Amino acid sequence: MGNKRISILGSTGSIGTQALDIIDLNKDMDVAALTGNRNVPLMLEQIKRFSPEMVCMYDSDAAMHLKELTAGKKIKITSGMEGLIEAAEWKDTDLVLSAVVGMVGIEPAIHAINAGRDIALANKETLVAAGHLIMPLAKEKGVAVIPVDSEHSAIFQCIRGNEDNAIKSIILTASGGPFRGYTKDRIKDVTIEMALSHPNWSMGKKVTIDSATMVNKGLEVMEARWLFDVDPDRIRVHVHPQSIVHSAVEFEDNAVMAQMGVPDMRVPISYALYYPKRRYALAGALDLFKAEHLDFYEPDLSVFKGLKLSYDAIKRGGNMPCILNIANERAVELFLNKKIGFTDIPGIIEDAMDHFPYSSDPSLKEILEIKDKVTEYINDLQE
Ligand code: MG
Repeated sequence: MGNKRISILGSTGSIGTQALDIIDLNKDMDVAALTGNRNVPLMLEQIKRFSPEMVCMYDSDAAMHLKELTAGKKIKITSGMEGLIEAAEWKDTDLVLSAVVGMVGIEPAIHAINAGRDIALANKETLVAAGHLIMPLAKEKGVAVIPVDSEHSAIFQCIRGNEDNAIKSIILTASGGPFRGYTKDRIKDVTIEMALSHPNWSMGKKVTIDSATMVNKGLEVMEARWLFDVDPDRIRVHVHPQSIVHSAVEFEDNAVMAQMGVPDMRVPISYALYYPKRRYALAGALDLFKAEHLDFYEPDLSVFKGLKLSYDAIKRGGNMPCILNIANERAVELFLNKKIGFTDIPGIIEDAMDHFPYSSDPSLKEILEIKDKVTEYINDLQE
């Protein structure tokens, strides 16, 4: 048998680069296709290290530039959504790691599933906005959807060997972000710099702000709902500042299976790449004596309104999670550009959820159209 063939969508991002480091370490996987957005120097380096057969730069100028730099080499360079989809379907790949950021990940995921590729999913939006389309399709095509996010990977690992047992509840842990324990008054005055300094995990800017507002945890509740087919009321967020228990599953007999380790994304990434095998993933070993104690708190939904709104959105279902997600994306952008304050983020989300009419079973086309409408609505409000 030849090596496992993988394509990585979003290879120049935080998850993508860590995945490539793990692949480089093990040297038993072939990289078939890579995609990035604008980072040409990094993509050029990745081409030299992993010799993919095709590369897509989402940005067309970046693609043009990369084409010049790789002239004479046996490699196909493409751009845009068409290129992303081509990478997702690329010949004879076994696994597609989707680590792109944003709703741009939805269509390539659908194409990968239709082409029969297993998916290692790091892109949240695919399930948040289109979980009702993705999961039935994956089931129909016999395709595995393997979560990369640390919490969902933990849950996925806890369920192994318990596939025939009903899940009583999911304990979804959250670090609580930099503003854990803040009151309503204190959270009003936080700055960008404060929001960007996450205590436990090192991640991209958007995810770091989402972690500070706890909207990230809300999106994770939505993902868990689709991945594990569990009612949102049975998914309980536990703030756990040490980030050692990455999540847990409670079964009918009240037995609770938890997955633990030092917080290091390379463990869940490696698990998704090599599933069902485990490999050395460069992460440090857990020393429970050094941890001293593990704490768990209920999140304060009156302070972290974004988490409350997320529960509202997933309970209503339909287009609401998608609306929440887009409104949040735009609000975070406005916050990062210093146009709004930190506590305006949930305000904008709530406003958008109230404004747009509810639709119970939106098609892919509807979902993709919501994006422009919500963004436009929020931009108009800002003027
Ligand atoms: Mg997470």
